[in-house]
Amino acid sequence: MRAEQLSTQQHREGILSGSPVALARAITLIESQLDADHEQAHELLESLLPLSGKSSRIAISGVPGVGKSTFIEAFGKHLTSQQHKVAVLAVDPTSMKTHGSILGDKTRMDELSKDPNAFVRPTATGGHLGGVAGKTRETILLCEAAGYDIIIVETVGVGQSEIAVRGMVDFVLLLMLAGAGDELQGIKKGIIEIADGIAINKADGDNLAAAKRAQADLQHALHFLTPDETGWTPKVLTCSGNTKTGLDEIWKMIVAFRQQAEGNGSWKLNRSRQHLVWMEESLNELIVRAAKKSSAFTTIRKELDEKVTDFSIYPPTAALKLLNELRRFF
Ligand code: GDP
Repeated sequence: MRAEQLSTQQHREGILSGSPVALARAITLIESQLDADHEQAHELLESLLPLSGKSSRIAISGVPGVGKSTFIEAFGKHLTSQQHKVAVLAVDPTSMKTHGSILGDKTRMDELSKDPNAFVRPTATGGHLGGVAGKTRETILLCEAAGYDIIIVETVGVGQSEIAVRGMVDFVLLLMLAGAGDELQGIKKGIIEIADGIAINKADGDNLAAAKRAQADLQHALHFLTPDETGWTPKVLTCSGNTKTGLDEIWKMIVAFRQQAEGNGSWKLNRSRQHLVWMEESLNELIVRAAKKSSAFTTIRKELDEKVTDFSIYPPTAALKLLNELRRFF
């Protein structure tokens, strides 16, 4: 069922007026699976594209329990107190199941949600991508058009979700805990591919000394890695969402990254590449949508799946057959 029947122009005006209600409605529209909504969402996003792109897009990631929601709430409040407008695309805890239990019975980021300069949107993840929902790029674009200058995308896990979100943001901040020494060694090499900054969280009370040690160890280890093409080596800091320490240092690190990346052209290059990937993924999505509408295609697909599974057809030949079938649609 279509929840709202606003015209594209009404959506657009609502977003440009900065109304959080209008923004939330537009996000619901772009997440809709209905064809009619799909077309309207397309039209809306296309018209808003020239108004987007100015924000800092930051992913904040880490395993469940590392303190993401506590940190994002404190960090978000810190940023709004500096006259920033902050949008958070948060993980809906009811959609994340770990070992059979549902995380987060408390309301996440409650205080930030009430802040007039913040917009918190919990999004169902659908599971495996750990928080990177299907329409993250589009949602970022809407938030930017609505006037948010810092967009935080929360993701869960270490690995796959960071890689997915990497293609949608400018900066990936990984939250970690002290005491995960061996794991740190293990993922050391991977870190440079996924994180631009690391913050050892819960650096408070009895944890403080261990957090400082972990920071020094990790920074030392990363020091020997070659910087990537942006010339940036991931920085390691400490922070605490509880005591609200380290927040300004983290923001300064992100600002310094942006200045450097804008200076050497890698900021724009990164975003251009992201748009190319976006086109590619949209193309795939369009093909899949078209194909799903055809029962003939679905039947042939099933037959070929079986043949491929029992090795009776050369897989690229099956792909060609499917392509021939698809030609009927285009
Ligand atoms: P998330 O699953 O990564 O979003 O983690 P939460 O923010 O829900 O926090 C998980 C647990 O760690 C909760 O019990 C928090 O009270 C606790 N916690 C979060 N941040 C801090 C912190 O900065 N210091 C300490 N000591 N505990 C924290």
